[in-house]
Amino acid sequence: MAVLVVGSVAFDSLKTPYGEAQDVLGGAATYFSITASYFTPVNIVAVVGDDFGEEHFRVFEGRAIDISGLERAAGRTFRWSGEYSGDMNEARTLDTQLNVFEHFSPKIPPAYRDSEYAFLANIHPVLQLQVREQLPQAKLVGLDTMNYWIRGTPEELRRTLSRVDMLVINEKEVRMLAGIDNLRRAASAVRELGPSAVVVKRGEYGACLFQDESIFFAPGYPLEELHDPTGAGDSFAGGFMGYLARTGDLGDDNLRRALVYGSVMASFAVEEFGLSRLLRLNWNDIQTRFQEFKSMTHFDV
Ligand code: AMP
Repeated sequence: MAVLVVGSVAFDSLKTPYGEAQDVLGGAATYFSITASYFTPVNIVAVVGDDFGEEHFRVFEGRAIDISGLERAAGRTFRWSGEYSGDMNEARTLDTQLNVFEHFSPKIPPAYRDSEYAFLANIHPVLQLQVREQLPQAKLVGLDTMNYWIRGTPEELRRTLSRVDMLVINEKEVRMLAGIDNLRRAASAVRELGPSAVVVKRGEYGACLFQDESIFFAPGYPLEELHDPTGAGDSFAGGFMGYLARTGDLGDDNLRRALVYGSVMASFAVEEFGLSRLLRLNWNDIQTRFQEFKSMTHFDV
């Protein structure tokens, strides 16, 4: 099964203790689609400006990514700049420019309307909802968001949350969204707003899944060097949703495997600046790291 994604396609300017990069291709939907495409075909819905060149479109070529829903509009592409320091678990946003996303109204190409798996990656919650409402046959709709929207558009975000099945969000932001510091209680409070499952991304500590009575933790991969955390969350979501769409199994055991594939993809994303490491992966790299996760967490009782 293919997975549809809406979210930012961006030019990022990044600063980490390992270096800097200006105006490199990024965005939530970009990281998501590159990682998910290792598992299943991806249909991307987003907008870019007239500064988005052939070389940028080419990044999606030769992969299982359909860009017929990637509109080109007059104006500048979305831009984000951020920096990381210390343990690099959190980005400090220096600047966000919505640009062409300000007047974007997503139109789902007819061929995508029967999508069963969709991910509403980080972007304005009203755009996320517009996409959700154009997918009547959706079986699993995931949603990501961040402090920028939690603070800036809380009512719109609540409406969008009420229409999704799963929230994939980072630890600090789930606490902010719920207004509760305790993680387990914050996840329960958010589940009351709509999503039946909440996946909390915890940076270097991995991720955990809360649904009904069940809780599952996947660790982060213990890398010796992490160069740029940008896109870790979206790459996590790409591995997680990509694997679920590939297998079409939403049972608890499979969700657990999906969570580990999410951690696998996030661990590759942060090894190098921007998209570099993700663009050079192969299926064997992914499986080898997945097995490492298995041996790192297995114990007999
Ligand atoms: P993450 O996976 O959380 O590191 O997300 C990183 C990506 O999110 C970057 O490539 C940014 O372009 C994008 N981004 C940052 N802020 C926003 C925002 N307010 N809305 C949509 N995308 C954003």
